[in-house]
Amino acid sequence: MKMTKSKIAIIGCGAIGITTALKIQERLKSKVDVTIFSKDFSPNLTSDVAAGLWEPYLLELTPEEKTTRWAGETYQYLIANWNQAEKLGITLQPVTYITDTSTFTTPSWLKITLGYTELPRQQIEQFSKRYNQKLTGGFHFVSFTWEASRFIPYFSELFIDGGGTIVRRDIQDLWELSEYDVVVNCTGLASKDLVCDNEMKPVRGQVMKVKAPWQNGIYIIDCHNRCSYIIPNIELTTLGGTKQIDYNTNISNTDRQHIQSTCQTIIPSLKTAEILKEVVGLRPSRTRVRVEAETLQRQDKFLRVVHNYGHGGAGITLSIGCANEAADLVEMLLARSKM
Ligand SMILES: Cc1cc2nc3c(=O)[nH]c(=O)nc-3n(C[C@H](O)[C@H](O)[C@H](O)COP(=O)(O)OP(=O)(O)OC[C@H]3O[C@@H](n4cnc5c(N)ncnc54)[C@H](O)[C@@H]3O)c2cc1C
Repeated sequence: MKMTKSKIAIIGCGAIGITTALKIQERLKSKVDVTIFSKDFSPNLTSDVAAGLWEPYLLELTPEEKTTRWAGETYQYLIANWNQAEKLGITLQPVTYITDTSTFTTPSWLKITLGYTELPRQQIEQFSKRYNQKLTGGFHFVSFTWEASRFIPYFSELFIDGGGTIVRRDIQDLWELSEYDVVVNCTGLASKDLVCDNEMKPVRGQVMKVKAPWQNGIYIIDCHNRCSYIIPNIELTTLGGTKQIDYNTNISNTDRQHIQSTCQTIIPSLKTAEILKEVVGLRPSRTRVRVEAETLQRQDKFLRVVHNYGHGGAGITLSIGCANEAADLVEMLLARSKM
C-alpha cells in the first residue's frame, strides 16, 4: 500500500531554516515532502554577516540550561564534521575573552568546551596594562567559526539532492500555507511582523571584513558595555562590533573608528590589513529564543506551526541544537494529527 507523505513547509533559508529543513528531512526521510519558502537567499541574509563564532551571545533571558544544551549539540556537530572544514566553512581556534564587568562570572557553557581555563589574575593584570583598561576577568577556550555563507549553499544542495524543494516567495501570512501538515517558522527578525511578536527587536551589528591571513586566534574584549572582537574566518578576518537596538543598516563612521581603534590596540598588525568590506546586520533578538509548537485555529480549520527564531547573537552557535528540537516538535505534531 502506498503511504501518503506528510507535507512540511519551512519559511526561511538562513542558518536556522536550512539546518532545520535538513534535520527534518534526515529524520523523517521518505515519510515527508519538505519545501523551503524564502523571500531572500544567501549571501544577502543576516546569517551571512556573522563571523559564525561558536559562543552563546546576546541571548537575554533564555534559560542557560537550554542555551548550553543547544550550543553543546552544535559544538559536538562541529567536532564531528571538522574533517569537512573547507566545504562547511569551519575553522578551529583558541579564544581569549576578557572583560571589565564588575559582576563577571564564568558562564556555565564554558565547561562543555575543549581546553577551557579561567585567566589567572597575573594575566588579567598584563592585559589591563597592555590595553590601559581596568579588566576584571576572562577565560580561554577552544572554539570554532562556522561561516553561513559557505554552509547555506552547500546544505541547500544536500537538501535538494534529498528530494527537498526551495521556492522564492514572500509569505505575508502563515495561513497562505494551510495545505501543509506543519509549517515551520524560521524567519528570524521578520517574525516581529509575520507572527506579530513584540518581543522581537533588532540588535544592530556593524563589522569590517579585512584581509589578515597572518591572524590566528580569536580575541573578544567586553569593555564599557561594548564588545570588540577579532575573528579570523577561512579567507577573511571579521572585526567588530556594535550591539545597538536600532534598525539602521547604514555604515556609521563613529562605529568604524571605534572598531578600528580597539581591534588595532589588541592586534597592532591589523593597522595594515586591507579592508575588503563593511557590513551591518540586525541580530534577531528576543527575550527568550523561541523553539515552540503552536496550533492556530481559524473557524473550523487548524494550522500546526513550529517556531524556531529569535536567536540573537548566536544563531550559528545554537543552530544544530535548535534544529534537533524543532524536528522533535514536528514529529510530535505529525503524530498528534494522526490520532
Ligand atoms: C554583526 C553580526 C555578527 C554575528 N556574529 C555571530 C557569531 O559570531 N556567531 C553566531 O552564532 N551568531 C552570530 N550572529 C547572529 C546570527 O547571524 C543570527 O542569530 C542568525 O543569522 C539568525 O539566523 P536566521 O536564519 O534566524 O535569520 P536570517 O539569516 O535573517 O534568515 C531569515 C530567513 O527568513 C526569510 N524570511 C524572512 N521573512 C520572510 C517572509 N515573510 N517570507 C519568506 N521568507 C522570509 C529570509 O529571506 C531568510 O531566508 C551575528 C549577527 C550579526 C548581525
